[in-house]
Amino acid sequence: MGTSAELDRVAVTIGGCTACRLAATRTLPVPGGGAIGTGLVFVGEAPGRHEDEQGRPFLGASGKFLDRVFAEAGMSFREMGYVLPVVKCRPPKNRDPRPDEVAACRPFLDAQLAALRPRIVVTLGRFGLHAMWPGAELSPVHGEWFEREDPIFGRYWLLPLCHPAAAMRFPKWRQRFVEGLRKLPTPPSAP
Ligand code: URA
Repeated sequence: MGTSAELDRVAVTIGGCTACRLAATRTLPVPGGGAIGTGLVFVGEAPGRHEDEQGRPFLGASGKFLDRVFAEAGMSFREMGYVLPVVKCRPPKNRDPRPDEVAACRPFLDAQLAALRPRIVVTLGRFGLHAMWPGAELSPVHGEWFEREDPIFGRYWLLPLCHPAAAMRFPKWRQRFVEGLRKLPTPPSAP
């Protein structure tokens, strides 16, 4: 099965998912979205209000911020990779996803990563980082390249960044975010 058909198949399964409490309050799940076949995946956090209403990732203030800062660095956030939320349904009032919600959604993330087989993974925030690197602390690894091995899709390069919401809020994180994203799209050497 091709990557796109496999992603569609996973999205249909997500649409019928009732594995955790978030299914009861969601409008639409957000399986993911963006450019397929670039070898790059962004692993985000969870949908917010706009994403929940429209079923697509990063439509609100965080998405506008990403569009702008990538464009300022000469890149297109929407064209350079595929976005995968760790949790596919909006947590009420945008609270942090709970561990059992992250665990309930994990098989979907794994199936999507298996379909996309990324060579580069950019995590946006600590939920994304912990999905790829359990227990890692964000600040010491932020904006650095790490060569990693995934049991499902093999060797890849990981670039941890903070969540755009943090970068918008705190000037220090904004500066670190912009410095980090300027390391894209080229990792130190091809895995
Ligand atoms: N992760 C987020 O934080 N927001 C989205 O819209 C999608 C993934």
